[in-house]
Amino acid sequence: MERCLKTNLSRAILLGWADVNVTSEPSSQSDGAPLDTVSPDDMARRLRLALDVSKIGVFDADLETGHVTRDAVLMQIFGYDALPDEDAGDLLEKTLHPDDREQTWATINAGIASGEPFFNAFRIIRPDGEVRYIRSRSVTFQDDNGHKRLLGANWDVTEDIMLQQSLEQARALSETRYKALEGAWREIERRALHDQLTGLANRHALLHWLDSLPTLPDDTCPSRAILHIDLNRFKEINDTLGHRAGDAAIIYVAGLLEGLRHQDEWLARIGGDEFALMLSVGKRSGNAAVIAEDIIRVLEEPIPCEGHLCRCGVSIGLAHTSDAVDGRQALINAAIALSYAKAQKGSRAMVFTAELENRNRAIKQTADDILRGLENDAFIPFYQLQFDAKTLEVCGVETLARWQHPEHGILAPDRFLKIAEDIDVMWRIDRLLAEKASADFLRWRGEGLQVPRMSMNVSARRLLDPQLLAPFPTKNLPKGTFVFEMLESIFLDALDGEMSRAIDRIRKAGIAIEIDDFGTGHASVLGLTTLHPKRLKIDRALIAPLTRGERHRRLIAAIIEMGHALDIEIVAEGVETQAQIDLLRTMGCDVLQGYALARPMSAQNLAVFLQTRAVAVADAALRTESSPPAAE
Ligand code: C2E
Ligand code: CA
Ligand code: CA
Repeated sequence: MERCLKTNLSRAILLGWADVNVTSEPSSQSDGAPLDTVSPDDMARRLRLALDVSKIGVFDADLETGHVTRDAVLMQIFGYDALPDEDAGDLLEKTLHPDDREQTWATINAGIASGEPFFNAFRIIRPDGEVRYIRSRSVTFQDDNGHKRLLGANWDVTEDIMLQQSLEQARALSETRYKALEGAWREIERRALHDQLTGLANRHALLHWLDSLPTLPDDTCPSRAILHIDLNRFKEINDTLGHRAGDAAIIYVAGLLEGLRHQDEWLARIGGDEFALMLSVGKRSGNAAVIAEDIIRVLEEPIPCEGHLCRCGVSIGLAHTSDAVDGRQALINAAIALSYAKAQKGSRAMVFTAELENRNRAIKQTADDILRGLENDAFIPFYQLQFDAKTLEVCGVETLARWQHPEHGILAPDRFLKIAEDIDVMWRIDRLLAEKASADFLRWRGEGLQVPRMSMNVSARRLLDPQLLAPFPTKNLPKGTFVFEMLESIFLDALDGEMSRAIDRIRKAGIAIEIDDFGTGHASVLGLTTLHPKRLKIDRALIAPLTRGERHRRLIAAIIEMGHALDIEIVAEGVETQAQIDLLRTMGCDVLQGYALARPMSAQNLAVFLQTRAVAVADAALRTESSPPAAE
């Protein structure tokens, strides 16, 4: 039997069929001798060895008698040590996986019928229940007895299939993971480009869009208008009604703007209460100013926020892409226009122009110069004397900031104060001046020059400076020697906890408080009674027309009367004529300050002025005559 199998195997291999790990080429050599010169026994031995090594099981079935011979490897593959009756039943039929049965037999029958070598793949279930994956190659031939036989080789590919399946599973898993990741990534991207509150695109997305515009200006690229929309009093809603109301207002406004947006236009929320609307080309962009007015009209209407109706108002900056080098620049231009719109009262739209750009550049230049000025110690105090209205004696001096500009000479605050405040350095200038002024003050006293008190202008922000009181040697001087002049708006707008604590500290330090520019802002008698300043300074805008009519005179008289009733002294600012001096004196004003008496001057000039004046007073005492005031 064994021998028969060997012979048949050799035959099969010589037929060029066997898919085994020995050479299938009849003429190739494994030990130097051509296979057809090797004896059949030797060849069978070699093949057996090769089959053992390759774990290929071999069967040989006599299709006439139904007798099947199987080698040990094949039995092993099928999970049997030996068949109880090797002819009994068909091992394949016995073990074939039911799902593969039909297909496997069909292939075998077709293969036998064709007479050609054929391939088969199926699963078997071993007696222990284990499922194995089998591949087979078979061929039919006629034996020496004229019997048709089927010779085949089976090998177990379960491990390969398992590996393939686990690779497949891993691939499917990684694909699912990839899909999930992709989804998460898309969500992250969506969030990164959208505003959570309103669902609108955010600043990021807008910049993305702007970057996608062709580089401008280009004749072939039609201009688009961009509107930078900023709510005017949104902070008040947030501060007074809370953040939920603020959020509701923003969502409502977003809805209104979305309603005004055309399909191909871009709308984004680019800040707390700021939106940008990029209009489509052509008529819409051409009508941008009209659209801006429409937006203003819509947003002038009350906004519902958490049960309240709020009027917010809106400012709009408008720029055209044709005026910019690229989309981002157009957005910056719209922001520049917006800053000018916001500087106006009420709801306004401003269009970006070359002139605005120049103005803006000049402001930026000044801001840079101010910062450099601070580094170079270019801010110095000037002093303007104040006079007792009754005696016309010097009773104080107001410190006024000046900027020693390297090109433009000495500059007054109208050239830098607003910008210094905008870039938040005015408090630093105030601090610097406080240090220099208190040093000058001590020097004058040391030189015997009579300056009873010194006033400083204090910006709201400087009130929060921890160094606020540090420059003033208050301990060794009478109370009220140093005076802080503050705009009444400071008290009315910002007298919250921190501010009122600062005011308390000022008072405790013996520094007097004066209200500056009285009559120009929102005067509040209530504010005056609670704050109780030492003095009120009537703004020069009210002093200027004083001698022009009874009505003006009566107003000043009323202020003086009210101040005195509240035990507050009155200072008249901007006194420019002798007639004003005379009138204010007769009206009972306490202190006079103005060009008619003394102009602001440098520390050096002030010392000279005071010395001259002291000499003049001495002369006058001798001649009982008064001398006219000197100028800067
Ligand atoms: P202010 O506190 O009302 O200062 C008085 C301003 O009126 C000064 O202008 C002064 O030069 C000017 N002035 C005085 N007498 C007359 C007069 O008879 N006629 C006219 N037409 N003007 C007169 P200045 O120095 O340009 O200051 C302008 C404003 O700048 C000040 O108004 C004050 O609000 C602010 N300021 C000045 N220095 C400082 C400072 O050191 N810190 C802060 N925070 N603000 C300052
Ligand atoms: Ca002042
Ligand atoms: Ca003033």
